[in-house]
Amino acid sequence: MKKYEFWFVVGSQFLYGPEVLDTVAKRAEEMAAELSSKLPYPLVYKVTAKTNEEITSVMKAANFDDSCAGVITWCHTFSPSKMWINGLDLLQKPYCHLATQYNMEIPNEEIDMDFMNLNQAAHGDREHGFISARLRKPRKVIAGYWKEESVQKRLGDWMRTAVGAAFSRELRVMRFGDNMREVAVTEGDKVEVQIKLGWQVNTWPVGKLVEIMDAVTDKEIDDLMDVYRASYDFATDDIETVRYQAREEIAMKKMMDAEGCSAFSNTFQDLYGMKQLPGLASQHLMAQGYGYGGEGDWKVSAMTAIMKRMGKDGNGASAFMEDYTYNLVPGAKYSLGAHMLEVCPSVAAEKPRIEVHPLGIGDREDPARLVFEGKEGDAIVVSLVDMGGRLRLICQDIHCVKPILPMPNLPVARVMWQAMPDLETGIECWITAGGAHHTVLSYDVSAEQMKDWAAIMGIEFVHITKDTTVESLEKELFLNDIAWKLR
Ligand code: MN
Repeated sequence: MKKYEFWFVVGSQFLYGPEVLDTVAKRAEEMAAELSSKLPYPLVYKVTAKTNEEITSVMKAANFDDSCAGVITWCHTFSPSKMWINGLDLLQKPYCHLATQYNMEIPNEEIDMDFMNLNQAAHGDREHGFISARLRKPRKVIAGYWKEESVQKRLGDWMRTAVGAAFSRELRVMRFGDNMREVAVTEGDKVEVQIKLGWQVNTWPVGKLVEIMDAVTDKEIDDLMDVYRASYDFATDDIETVRYQAREEIAMKKMMDAEGCSAFSNTFQDLYGMKQLPGLASQHLMAQGYGYGGEGDWKVSAMTAIMKRMGKDGNGASAFMEDYTYNLVPGAKYSLGAHMLEVCPSVAAEKPRIEVHPLGIGDREDPARLVFEGKEGDAIVVSLVDMGGRLRLICQDIHCVKPILPMPNLPVARVMWQAMPDLETGIECWITAGGAHHTVLSYDVSAEQMKDWAAIMGIEFVHITKDTTVESLEKELFLNDIAWKLR
């Protein structure tokens, strides 16, 4: 995986003399070093900026440096912000303003005017914030003491989000076959997503995949079968069927790696020359960080890959998901999510089982798939839809539960959850916003991260929370519609 770092740019001015500037630089270096030991990516102190030229120069360098995933600024002292205009205007990398202070406490005896001049982030950060507001510069503002765990957590989450943005800008998606016939929500403008999100979405023939599948060796399949045995329980004697999934996985991975693709989609309507719809194959590719979308849904595939990259250790608990059916019993109202095969085992509560069952759809042989229950815990579901002229990212807070029924005859992985604010209102909000049946369900990417990601990419964001009402959402969507048309 590509290595990223973040740049720490500290604002000041010449007014206070060299001694103060030396102290600011020393402290900035100390802060960057300590924060680097706590954050998921290194924070590299770059400069105590005092002039228009210094700021312009560091921002241009940030744009040009592929390892720089974002810039974090802070004003230890006051830094007149007209000198930031050129640099901030040029900055193309994600930008976070950390409104913090070197010291935690106001020292009762020690405080005098010298102390005040050195430690004036409280008003330095306000001057600094104004110019970004004036420039309409998208940015994240995080306020709080830099050593406090909650501040570091938010800064770390923002870093992961910025890396998700960098990953998005380079993402390539491999499509095997087109979208499922007549389906609307999985369609979209591939030129628009490349302009806004950077995705290169292109198609490769299924026949080519079959050629590569045919060339996979027994040894390659044996090796992958060892990995399956180490990762999953075998609940089938039909080893040949499992081996066929391994063959599919190896071939898909070869094609994606050769083209630099991190996500793929396929469709049961185009399996020409394939004996099984990839089930276990797609699931185990997702477990390795590849994005996937069923029925040709390349948007959800790309979002799965991005959210995995934004999650813990660069491959978090995020899965391609589909709202399937409801339990509408008063007091026990839940959504049941699943797919015909392909749910990522990163969300499993237990060791997944490999099973072989018939599949009515697609007219092929019985495919092997992983079967498991999802974990309990707070999560989100996310859907990217093309509104025609703009992209909308919809995020809903959910709480996943241990499925309330064993469902012994359900031959697929399943997750059960409570939608916020409640099942009916949650459905009404989701449908009102135009959210898809396909989503990415994530346990470790937060709604705040998705909001920040949408802001970095410059797309609309809609969040359905425990406090959302249909009325408030309708109003928000109406106003958004006008606002986005004015942009
Ligand atoms: Mn589907």
